[in-house]
Amino acid sequence: MDTPNPVTTPLAADFSRSERLFPKLTPAQLARIAAHGRRRATTRGEVLIEVGDRIVPCFVVVSGEIQVLQVSGGTETVIVSHGPGSVSGEANLISGRPSVARLRISEPGEVLELSRDQLLALVQTDAELSEILMRAFILRRVELIARDVGGVVVIGSTYNAGTLRIREFLTRNGHPFHFVDLDRDADAQELLDRFDVSLADVPVLICGGETVLRNPSNAQIADCLGFNENVDQTRVNDLVVVGAGPAGLAAAVYGASEGLNVLVLESNVPGGQAGSSSRIENYLGFPTGISGLELTSRAYAQALKFGARVIVAKGATRLACDGQRYTVEIDGGPKVPARTVIIATGAAYRKPALENLSMFEGAGVYYGATPMEAQLCLGEEVVVVGGGNSAGQAAVFLAQTTRRVHVLVRGDGLGDTMSRYLIRRIEETPSIVVRTRTQIVGLEGSGRLERIRWRDDRTGDVEAHDIGHVFMMTGAVPNTRWLDGCIALDGKGFVKTGPDLSAEELSAARWPPGRPPYLLETNRPGIFAVGDVRGGNVKRVASAVGEGSIAVAFVHQVLRP
Ligand SMILES: Cc1cc2nc3c(=O)[nH]c(=O)nc-3n(C[C@H](O)[C@H](O)[C@H](O)COP(=O)(O)OP(=O)(O)OC[C@H]3O[C@@H](n4cnc5c(N)ncnc54)[C@H](O)[C@@H]3O)c2cc1C
Repeated sequence: MDTPNPVTTPLAADFSRSERLFPKLTPAQLARIAAHGRRRATTRGEVLIEVGDRIVPCFVVVSGEIQVLQVSGGTETVIVSHGPGSVSGEANLISGRPSVARLRISEPGEVLELSRDQLLALVQTDAELSEILMRAFILRRVELIARDVGGVVVIGSTYNAGTLRIREFLTRNGHPFHFVDLDRDADAQELLDRFDVSLADVPVLICGGETVLRNPSNAQIADCLGFNENVDQTRVNDLVVVGAGPAGLAAAVYGASEGLNVLVLESNVPGGQAGSSSRIENYLGFPTGISGLELTSRAYAQALKFGARVIVAKGATRLACDGQRYTVEIDGGPKVPARTVIIATGAAYRKPALENLSMFEGAGVYYGATPMEAQLCLGEEVVVVGGGNSAGQAAVFLAQTTRRVHVLVRGDGLGDTMSRYLIRRIEETPSIVVRTRTQIVGLEGSGRLERIRWRDDRTGDVEAHDIGHVFMMTGAVPNTRWLDGCIALDGKGFVKTGPDLSAEELSAARWPPGRPPYLLETNRPGIFAVGDVRGGNVKRVASAVGEGSIAVAFVHQVLRP
């Protein structure tokens, strides 16, 4: 019998990056898209989309060609050309943010035009096209980031806290920018002169090539770059989710995909604490680990794909729960009515009581260990403070690129507070030194951290070390101040839910008779708390995601007539 020829199965890698970035759709796929959009003729030179346009349709080329152009200082550079079967657009089609490029017809012909709503309807209902298009849009945004196509320039210093904040805000929002480092780039002074800004003004953000923002807040940056849509204060939302960490994003994905009209409010950037994690290795389904930024960016894109509206850099400042309907007040004044609310505001980093801590935040003192912070201390000696998993991850991650990592722990060891796998990694990494019963007692430096002092609590001895980088990974306190007496909290400020609520707390909130609160429900019917902000929650990404998803099932019960 002849030996059969082995079948060659193409490896995933054969499906090249360029095919994933610029897929050519089949006639059958084009026919399915045609059902969602309108077919129209194009003329040579016609501008389909201008840089900064808010309303950005998606174009599928039937015949002819579309050029995608980067526009900088009046000069155009072709980023890519779309021919027949190719689809225009990138992640901003899903997020609803303004266009960062110009689209012009270079060869006349025909296109299929889909509005953003039509595109969202398509990716929500057609699994095959959703996979092809969502992947292409996300990869194209990655390319735009790599090429700094976004019309944003940040001028600042690597060791300046404000500069670090702005770079993190843009990075975690997936917005491309060009960074000009005053300490290293020769053309920095020329740029300062051109935009009439002085060294005292940095960090400076130049938005759209003209607007100069001096040390802007995240909210100002979001406004300038058009990150947020206008908040409609008359629209009653089925669900307002407050906080876009893993718990809030999970609630948004499940709520929006199950047909609810969902508004998400995020005071900073989507991703929460998880977004600042260098590598999450214990989240189900990622055996090789995944960076917090990557995991939460995917979740954010997924929430947008299903139609959730997400406002960034504007948090909830108050929850009004005395009227007939709940109202969430947003930073800057708007008030949004809600039939149900999910509180997912997580926790904020606990700050040790060190006199001049704020002076060095971002200038030697950090609360997250991501590749951005790691770059700042390449080959140097660093200190990680804390004995929990976030400290362990930070130590292991930083040990790859630094000379030595000192882990300072107040307790006798790591066994009670850190997962075994991290303890083992630490033990196996010779450049990590664990110092038990030791705490930082002083920070010194002018402009940036130069020296720290730590004390051995066993002996009382204080040592000074010329170390300029400290990572504070000392746990977190719940973000519940904005709830202002409306919701029952436990002794530590976490939100009480379900069986943890006492009869007194329920009657004080005039809980209606008929049913007890659902599992994740607070002492107000239809208001739920999920993730790290909830009393008794296990502080893990998986439990945050699980609770966010489960809460949506209870939201449906409450909304049911
Ligand atoms: C460095 C680090 C590493 C970690 N690594 C792991 C790990 O490997 N595995 C693991 O399972 N867990 C890990 N954790 C824990 C995990 O990240 C958290 O348990 C999880 O992020 C909690 O999710 P959450 O959505 O409940 O809250 P958060 O992640 O805290 O998100 C809350 C969000 O709400 C926003 N917010 C706060 N107040 C307001 C307001 N008033 N209005 C609007 N928005 C508001 C915040 O800006 C934030 O984005 C890590 C944590 C850190 C800090």
